[in-house]
Amino acid sequence: MIYLDYTATTPMDSEIIELYARLQREFFANSSSLNKLGQRSDYMISRCKEDIFNTLGIKNYDIVFTSNATEANNIAILGYLSNYKSGHIITTKIEHPSVFEVYKHLEGVGFKVDYLDIDENGKIKLGELKKLINKETLLVSIMWVNNIIGAVEPIKDVIEILKDYPKCRLHVDGVQGLCKVEPNFDFNKIDFLTLSAHKIYGPKGIGGLIYKKNLEIGKIMYGSNAQKGLKPGTMDVGLVGCMCKAIKKYYPLTEKHYEYVKSLQDRLIEGLKKLDRVHINLVGESPYITAISIPNINGETIVHALEEREIYVSTGSSCSSKLKKPEKTIMALTNNESLATSLIRISLSHLSTVSDVDALVCALEKIK
Ligand code: PMP
Repeated sequence: MIYLDYTATTPMDSEIIELYARLQREFFANSSSLNKLGQRSDYMISRCKEDIFNTLGIKNYDIVFTSNATEANNIAILGYLSNYKSGHIITTKIEHPSVFEVYKHLEGVGFKVDYLDIDENGKIKLGELKKLINKETLLVSIMWVNNIIGAVEPIKDVIEILKDYPKCRLHVDGVQGLCKVEPNFDFNKIDFLTLSAHKIYGPKGIGGLIYKKNLEIGKIMYGSNAQKGLKPGTMDVGLVGCMCKAIKKYYPLTEKHYEYVKSLQDRLIEGLKKLDRVHINLVGESPYITAISIPNINGETIVHALEEREIYVSTGSSCSSKLKKPEKTIMALTNNESLATSLIRISLSHLSTVSDVDALVCALEKIK
């Protein structure tokens, strides 16, 4: 079996699987209970928070543990904007649906949303951002690394631009950047950063929203006071511990894994360039993601053809892959419907090998 869909999700690290079992045995008590066992669970969660902040070099922030990054993005955007009835927002045409669809909803209830275009490298146009931003802009949402084409967005420059707009908050979807690409910006300069554990060899069922202390975030769910009421309900100490472990283990390995995966991607690109029918949409700065198209063959057909050879890739974001609509990031990049419907996303990991890459190229060559 050759798994090349690590952007959709990663297998859990075996050390983390073992940690999960141990934490479930030892910290099963409800962290909201006032008894000693409950307080031990609560203490474990606060230690995990500290560990995450120390690993990422973040000070004066809080974190709300969510069920995934989709929920974290929703809490950040809807929660922050619940302080307002209308206002101006800037985002991009290539955000993940868990950001993009939230803004589509907000447009319908009175907010004005501008969607930034991308250039031929998949990066937002900073000039357009400068033109659109104004003193009334409430929130700017720009992803760190795009999940379809692997473009790394210029967050550092965005932070500079936003300095002149102190009222405007910055939300960054960090899901495909964390532990994969070395950040060239300071996490402490971002207001909201969202993460997902299952993209970094942690478990599914947990994500996080890291936010600057003192920011007012309204509730979008109602229930107990757990997690300041932002994500009410009983917490799973095992999941929190595992997300913390994944960050502590993989964040320091970012550069090493990047170099290795880059060498694999170089080999992949070299192989793909020899295949006449394959169009490489972009070689973005994240070597983990390579988006290709084989015009006139539907992406899904290619996925299934490869699957017969036990090679697993995807048609793009798993959230929109069943819709068979032209993929919006490829449309924004190429404005070519044929490329955007015949997309396949190949995603690598430090676990991938040269023979995985060679087998994929060989299989693609044989697809009729
Ligand atoms: N943002 C990006 C950039 C993603 O790639 C994903 C996962 N497809 C998400 C958000 C949503 O993450 P989750 O699966 O944890 O909800």
